[in-house]
Amino acid sequence: MTTGATIVWFRQDLRIHDHAALHAAVARGVPLVLVYVLEEQGPWRAGAAMRYWLHETLAALSTDLQRHGQRLLLLRGDAQVELTRLRAACGADALYFNRRYEPHDHALDARIAQTLGARCEVRSFASHLLFEPEAVQTGTGTAYRVFTPYYRACLQLPTPRPPLPAPRRWPAPAGAPAGLALEELQLLPRIAWAGGIAARWPAGEQAAHVALDEFIDERMNDYARDRDRPSLNGTAGISPYLCVGALSARSCWHAAHQAALRERDAGRTSAAEGWTRQLIWREFAYHLLHHFPHTPDAPFRAEWQAFPWLHDDSVLRRWQRGMTGIPLVDAGMRELWHTGYMHNRVRMVVASWLCKHLGLHWLAGARWFWDTLIDADLANNTLGWQWSAGCGADAAPYFRIFNPVSQSVKFDPAGLYLRRWLPERAALDDKAIHQPGVRVSGYPEAMVDLAEGRRQALARYASLPR
Ligand SMILES: Cc1cc2nc3c(=O)[nH]c(=O)nc-3n(C[C@H](O)[C@H](O)[C@H](O)COP(=O)(O)OP(=O)(O)OC[C@H]3O[C@@H](n4cnc5c(N)ncnc54)[C@H](O)[C@@H]3O)c2cc1C
Repeated sequence: MTTGATIVWFRQDLRIHDHAALHAAVARGVPLVLVYVLEEQGPWRAGAAMRYWLHETLAALSTDLQRHGQRLLLLRGDAQVELTRLRAACGADALYFNRRYEPHDHALDARIAQTLGARCEVRSFASHLLFEPEAVQTGTGTAYRVFTPYYRACLQLPTPRPPLPAPRRWPAPAGAPAGLALEELQLLPRIAWAGGIAARWPAGEQAAHVALDEFIDERMNDYARDRDRPSLNGTAGISPYLCVGALSARSCWHAAHQAALRERDAGRTSAAEGWTRQLIWREFAYHLLHHFPHTPDAPFRAEWQAFPWLHDDSVLRRWQRGMTGIPLVDAGMRELWHTGYMHNRVRMVVASWLCKHLGLHWLAGARWFWDTLIDADLANNTLGWQWSAGCGADAAPYFRIFNPVSQSVKFDPAGLYLRRWLPERAALDDKAIHQPGVRVSGYPEAMVDLAEGRRQALARYASLPR
């Protein structure tokens, strides 16, 4: 029997099911210190919507842990400094945590292993992804840059292990400093603007599993048909949970594959493969972020450094506020502002409009998403924006410019999504509602003519050094 205490450092894994570090710590059988450290440095520290979401998720995790006689200790500051202090204060002989993959995390983990490793056992675990970024390699041992071969390579690897259960017998909590109250982390906004987010998104691990199960049991088989229709509840709606780790990717993967086996036994085909392919897009995003850590701030392709992006704050503000005069773009931007989320099809349209028709830098869009999304995820957001702008790995070619009106007619034919988010246009008929040229009081004229914006975008593209 080991003596001492094990510190479990919670990070982007705010759950108790399928938590590899917690599972191993419980198996050690010595008292536990469970800690979360709010780190506030760096250009990509949590945005306003994510801070709200973190507050709610930490509250839910604390409640779950209390049911098992445990306490979540909350700290704020530099993780290395705080963990070093904590280890000394509680005499822990082990520090366990799950790995993160953002650029500064590698250096941080290495520093922690070096400084704390001299005094206690430091172990990191794989728990955030299905496949570790290094585990997927081309035949020549390099990183993938194109999704389809990456996807095929993933399918050749051993199936991700099933999710770990939540611990059943918990060791006693160890004596530890009091830490901060959740309110002292000051994650909530001073002005209460998060009502729309709260109404749409219940926080925490239990809510995450309810969302996953409901999707798999009731909607996954219609995913291919409904996933691009923003007025429908056609996708899983789990990204806010995956993002803070209230849900693990393995839980999603196995739930989908078990449903597929049940369908097969009943003589039916299942849509699990189509949906789990999306989970592999998330893996691909992490693979790229790990191998190309410059990409949150700079284009994947170096030649795009010289691209003549425009900078205009007043144009950017109209896009941010959903006042561009292009109905689908404005509906999407307002959905984002009110709910902390935007449908994937609409994300592609608003991003294309910003980078191509308006010619603004993709980073201006990525930063706004970062501040307003509750699923803001550095890997996925970078992939999505670089893909939309045309400067990323396996990106949509720059000359493929979404027409937001045809997208609207195709994917929201009865204008249900537009009516929900643009009440000033709700009385227009199914045809007119899509057309920027059909004016109503209180709704602006289109900032840029569709054909002219496209022509200007292609002219800028022609200046790109090849
Ligand atoms: C410009 C832009 C920015 C984006 N920013 C983010 C972001 O910050 N955080 C984020 O989680 N996703 C981002 N996405 C990807 C995608 O829009 C969301 O993951 C998706 O809308 C989440 O909804 P869902 O859970 O219902 O997805 P489902 O369609 O049910 O898919 C299940 C899961 O697969 C993953 N997934 C699905 N599509 C993608 C994709 N295109 N790229 C990577 N992973 C994917 C997500 O983890 C998602 O939760 C962005 C896309 C674009 C075009």
